[in-house]
Amino acid sequence: MLQPTISDALAARRVIAGQLPPTPMWNYPALDATTGATVLVKHENVQPTGAFKVRGGLNLLAGLGPAERQAGIVGYSTGNHAQSLAFAARRHGVPCAIVMPTDPNPCKAAAVRALGAELIEAGADMGEAAERAAELATARGARLVSAADEPALIAGVATAYLEIFEQAPDLDAVVVPVGGGSGAAAACLVAQALAPRCQVIAVQSAASPAAHDSWRAGRLLSRPNRTRAEGLAVGSGFALTQGLLGPGLADFLLVDDERISQAQWVLMRDAHTLAERAGAAALAALLAHPERFAGRRVAVVCTGANASEHELRGQLGLASAA
Ligand SMILES: *Cc1c(COP(=O)(O)O)cnc(C)c1O
Repeated sequence: MLQPTISDALAARRVIAGQLPPTPMWNYPALDATTGATVLVKHENVQPTGAFKVRGGLNLLAGLGPAERQAGIVGYSTGNHAQSLAFAARRHGVPCAIVMPTDPNPCKAAAVRALGAELIEAGADMGEAAERAAELATARGARLVSAADEPALIAGVATAYLEIFEQAPDLDAVVVPVGGGSGAAAACLVAQALAPRCQVIAVQSAASPAAHDSWRAGRLLSRPNRTRAEGLAVGSGFALTQGLLGPGLADFLLVDDERISQAQWVLMRDAHTLAERAGAAALAALLAHPERFAGRRVAVVCTGANASEHELRGQLGLASAA
């Protein structure tokens, strides 16, 4: 599989221009006071699907040939990759089936259905859902879309980092939450070309550390996958993304789920921003390691906003609806 390059990222920017406006990146003095750093929040939470992944989906769909378009695509996802594919497939008039592990976040499942995709709930976790998706794709002759090992997804997601380094050319670090690693791989790719002095720092939940452990070990590993942050709930490393993370990352931090929930609340309080758990993980790294970021100029990517109602009510201290 070919690693995407900066040229692929620039081509992807042309593909998505006119479909997705650049997302804002704001500084909030209250958040600086809380963290001790100069923090710039990149607002991927305002994408039409509520997460950065839509950039990758639109780029991947735009690159399919006529036969693939007709046969359709099959994806597997806990939610945001699914919404990205469903959104892009609808734009391109391509049939789309999504396998989600059973008992998905209802808000994400409803969004996928509303976008017109076929939703199949199967498997106890992402690994099992991936197997079911592969069988389905074979049976239908459809294009199976990996959650991370897709050069077109990484190139599409890289457009967020083209924006970041244009919006703030003088960053000391950009902090990116990781599940399969497409976002962080894209960050490495773009930083290397445009901002080689900016450190790319990845963050994962300690309850699902497969990408972190794979990066430290220098080989693909599978690990327990127990985080409540759906966007980060991935149980194994991916070859393509690890290939870019290997030389590209300055560091890879782990945070626990409690810290992620705290960061979710801080984003609400200090930045008036609704993030899902995964979308708050980058900020959680700053809260967990304040000495590391003190006085530095740091972009944190708020990757998504698709919190379930149950999660939101918990955040607001309200009893769950009966
Ligand atoms: C998918 C996702 C991530 C992790 O991205 P990867 O590219 O899989 O590493 C982080 N945050 C949110 C909101 C996501 O949906």
